[in-house]
Amino acid sequence: MKIAFLGLGIMGSRMSERLIRAGEEVTVWNRTAGKAEGLKRLGAKEAASPKEAAAGADVALTMLADPASVEAVALGREGLIEGLKPGAAYIDMTTVSPATSRKLGEAAARRGVAFLDAPVTGSKPAAAAGELLLMVGGEAATLQRLRPVLQPMSKKIVHMGPVGAGSLMKLVNNLSMAGAMAAFFEGFVLGRRGGLSEEGIMEVLASGALSSPLLRLKGDAILKRDFEPLFSLKHMAKDVHLAVEEAAGMKLEAPIMQLLDERFTEAQKRGLNEEDYAALIKLYGLDPLKGDGSR
Ligand code: NAP
Repeated sequence: MKIAFLGLGIMGSRMSERLIRAGEEVTVWNRTAGKAEGLKRLGAKEAASPKEAAAGADVALTMLADPASVEAVALGREGLIEGLKPGAAYIDMTTVSPATSRKLGEAAARRGVAFLDAPVTGSKPAAAAGELLLMVGGEAATLQRLRPVLQPMSKKIVHMGPVGAGSLMKLVNNLSMAGAMAAFFEGFVLGRRGGLSEEGIMEVLASGALSSPLLRLKGDAILKRDFEPLFSLKHMAKDVHLAVEEAAGMKLEAPIMQLLDERFTEAQKRGLNEEDYAALIKLYGLDPLKGDGSR
C-alpha cells in the first residue's frame, strides 16, 4: 500500500517510522525541511509539497498541530485532498475540533475520497512503540478497510461513530487528563509546602487508587524537573480551548473547563508553550533543584 504521511513532529515522526518498519511504501512531507532525514535512511521518500505527497497514494495521513494547520495542508488548491486520486482515503490523526473533522470529511467526499478522523492518545513513548490508542470517527466499513494501515501504530482502535466522533472523544479524553493532572499539580505543591517530601507524595499517590501510567510519567517529570516535551503545553492548551468551544456550542455549563482554560492560557503567557504540559505546575512557583540535584 502506498502511504503519504504529513507532519513529522514529536508524534508523526515516530508514527511514520512504525509504518515504514511494517513494510509500507511511505512518502513523507513536513513544513520545515530536515525532519525527514532519519526516515529517508529507513526507506521513506520525501515529497516537496502536500499535493506531491498525495499523488499516487492509496492512503494519506496527517499528524499536524491544530485545526488551522490541518486546514492549511489538506484543503484548497495545491492541498493534500486535491492531490489524492478518487477512491483513495484520508485519515487525519491530529487533535482538532469535530467541526474541522466534518469539514475535512466533506471536502474529501467531494473528491471521492474516504475520510476518517482518528486522533490518538498515548504520548511520545507509545508512538515510538506502536502502542497508541486510536478513537475513530467515520463509516465502520471504511475503518475496517483501513485497519491494516492503523494497526502498526496502535494497541487498540475504538470506533466512536460518524466523522467527528473521534475528535469529540479526543477532547473528552484530554479534558479529563488535563483536569486530573491540574488537580494533582495543585495537591503536590500543597503537600510540598506543608513539608511532605516529594518522593513520599509520589510513593503514596502512585501506589493508591489514583495510580496510573500518566501520574507516574508526570510525577517523574516533576521530581526530575525535566519538562522536555512529551506532550507540549501549547497543544494541551489548544485541546482544553477546543473543549471549551465545543461546550459553548452545546450550551453546556462547564466551570472546570473554563478554569483549566484560564490556567493554561496563563501558562502560555508565561512562556511555557514549548515545555511539557507538566510545566503547568510552575504557575505555583515550583522550587528548582539545587546544583547537586537535591531539593
Ligand atoms: P509537534 O511536535 O508540535 O508537531 C506538529 C507538526 O505540525 C509538525 O510537523 C509541524 O511542522 C506541523 N505544523 C504545525 N503548524 C503547521 C502549519 N501551519 N502548516 C504545516 N505544518 C504545520 O506536535 P505533536 O506532539 O507531534 O502532536 C501532533 C498532534 O497530535 C497535535 O494535534 C497534538 O495535540 C496531538 N497529540 C500529541 C500527543 C503527544 O503526546 N505529543 C499525544 C496525542 C495527541 P514543523 O516541523 O514545520 O513545525
